[in-house]
Amino acid sequence: MKPFHYERASTVEEACSMSTESEESCFLAGGTTLIDLLKLNVMRPAKVVDVRNVDMDTVDLLEDGGILIGANVRNSDLAWHQKVRRDYQALSEALLSGASPQLRNMATVAGNVMQRARCPYFRDNYSPCNKRSPGSGCAALGGYARSHAVLGTSEHCIATHPSDMCVALAAFEAKVRVEGLAGTRDIPFSDFHLLPGDRPDREHAIDPGELITGVVLPPNVEGASSVYLKSRDRASYEFALASAAVSFALVEGRIAAARIALGGVATKPWRAFEAENCLEGNEPSSELYEEAAALAMEGAITQPDNAYKVPLARGLIVRALAIARERVEAQV
Ligand SMILES: Cc1cc2nc3c(=O)[nH]c(=O)nc-3n(C[C@H](O)[C@H](O)[C@H](O)COP(=O)(O)OP(=O)(O)OC[C@H]3O[C@@H](n4cnc5c(N)ncnc54)[C@H](O)[C@@H]3O)c2cc1C
Repeated sequence: MKPFHYERASTVEEACSMSTESEESCFLAGGTTLIDLLKLNVMRPAKVVDVRNVDMDTVDLLEDGGILIGANVRNSDLAWHQKVRRDYQALSEALLSGASPQLRNMATVAGNVMQRARCPYFRDNYSPCNKRSPGSGCAALGGYARSHAVLGTSEHCIATHPSDMCVALAAFEAKVRVEGLAGTRDIPFSDFHLLPGDRPDREHAIDPGELITGVVLPPNVEGASSVYLKSRDRASYEFALASAAVSFALVEGRIAAARIALGGVATKPWRAFEAENCLEGNEPSSELYEEAAALAMEGAITQPDNAYKVPLARGLIVRALAIARERVEAQV
């Protein structure tokens, strides 16, 4: 591990100024991603700013009916929060499907949003990897790529975005609140994670020295139900091969405000906008779900090892839509 300078901040301002003092700095929250990557020598910051004492660990109800989730709120606490379980069920389910209870007790919301790829070539520190070492190449292209992405890929990177929580946040149209020395801004979730393009090392729309202080969730659509489904190699403690977060409401028997986001198949938490458009305004049916699922996976670029993800994700979307409908109808 490369030696680094360690500082502990107790306010947002302190955290931002400590971080801006060094170009190669990063924040420490639960440590469940960062400490591993420091030990593997994959992340090599000159300074680590510990933000665990910064006061941002509450879930606050907003006047419009939404919530502001503090950056340091633990994944377990958020999953079991009463309002999240009632109004944002897919978020609770996504959180509880991630990692293990011990990890969820440590992991924070901001750390989860910022977690790095689980691509073995990124983490092994010797294979060519444009994300870890820009310009070195991508060992996954032409290599073993069973867990890799089929959507949002580029010729420079096909690493999958690993988060479950982020898939639900994408479906609920969250915003990431960041604060820096220049002020505060809210970044729409679909703009927060960047596509790899020709700079896979640039992963987030956050500037150096900016701290995530929270995530804003708008109020869920009246009468909407949601669900998160995840397919993986074993029933717990495993990343998604494919996952789907779905939310919609029924108005006079027709689908309104449909939201579909996918995990395990794309280089960032993936909103399936065309699939949503295909659902909205129509009566729910299995044929319609199949059509939406096909649209969601249109344009997938597969490798020999990961082509199975296309039918897997389509099946998950269809099943998630059917469950969301059952939940909507159970409310009435
Ligand atoms: C064995 C294992 C299995 C896992 N399985 C899953 C899974 O199935 N599904 C899943 O979704 N996740 C899984 N994870 C990942 C886990 O969810 C993340 O490790 C965790 O959410 C990271 O949160 P943290 O608070 O520990 O972040 P840290 O490790 O402290 O930080 C992670 C990154 O976030 C940055 N950061 C932290 N706080 C802030 C802030 N306030 N502002 C800006 N940047 C910040 C850090 O600088 C760092 O780059 C797994 C992890 C492990 C180790």
